[in-house]
Amino acid sequence: MRLLIVEDDLDLAAAVRAGLDRRGLASDHAASLGDADQMLKSMDYSAAVLDLGLSDGDGLDLLSAVRSRRQTLPILILTARGDVEDRLLGLDAGADDYLVKPFNMDELAARLRALLRRGNLQENDLAFANLRFDNVSRELSIDGVSVGLSAREREIMELLLRRPGRVVTKGFVEDQLFGLDDGLGSNAVEVYVHRLRKKLEKGSASAAIETIRGVGYILRPAG
Ligand code: CA
Repeated sequence: MRLLIVEDDLDLAAAVRAGLDRRGLASDHAASLGDADQMLKSMDYSAAVLDLGLSDGDGLDLLSAVRSRRQTLPILILTARGDVEDRLLGLDAGADDYLVKPFNMDELAARLRALLRRGNLQENDLAFANLRFDNVSRELSIDGVSVGLSAREREIMELLLRRPGRVVTKGFVEDQLFGLDDGLGSNAVEVYVHRLRKKLEKGSASAAIETIRGVGYILRPAG
């Protein structure tokens, strides 16, 4: 799950990304509408945070372009324009939510989570062997017993449970977990998978994460 932050104030963008990252939400940043448009065309983002006043145009134009391409990802407008008319313009152009600067980081994260949940509503819980992953609470349980996971572990578990029995490449996991420009140690994913594997074993999971050397991981029935 990845978010795109479209914001031309670089300090603010960095603060937003750091704040979301601390809350388990990985993101990329685009400083212009042109970059944002390219990234939205090439990557499958789960949601976007969109500033309106950008150096190369108005965020509403990007919003309209995205919607006319029938891209349905949730988009939250984050702007200094707080008038009722502005909000209506944004919502009419296809925004899912609207937050006015200055804003509270917890509120931004909460609203994004609400949008992500709404995007997932049609999907049932993920289940494989005796594992179950609740799409709303994002909790993993084994035989109905909840298993405590870190944000990164949870993310990896979800990726594997969406593709049981199929290879999930390490590169894909890295793409989904970390921003494009994050300095990421080459063994970071392995460390998270190792911890996750221990937790599955401890919880007597009847599924196990198998490593395909040099490629990635597969979730398989244990034993
Ligand atoms: Ca701006």
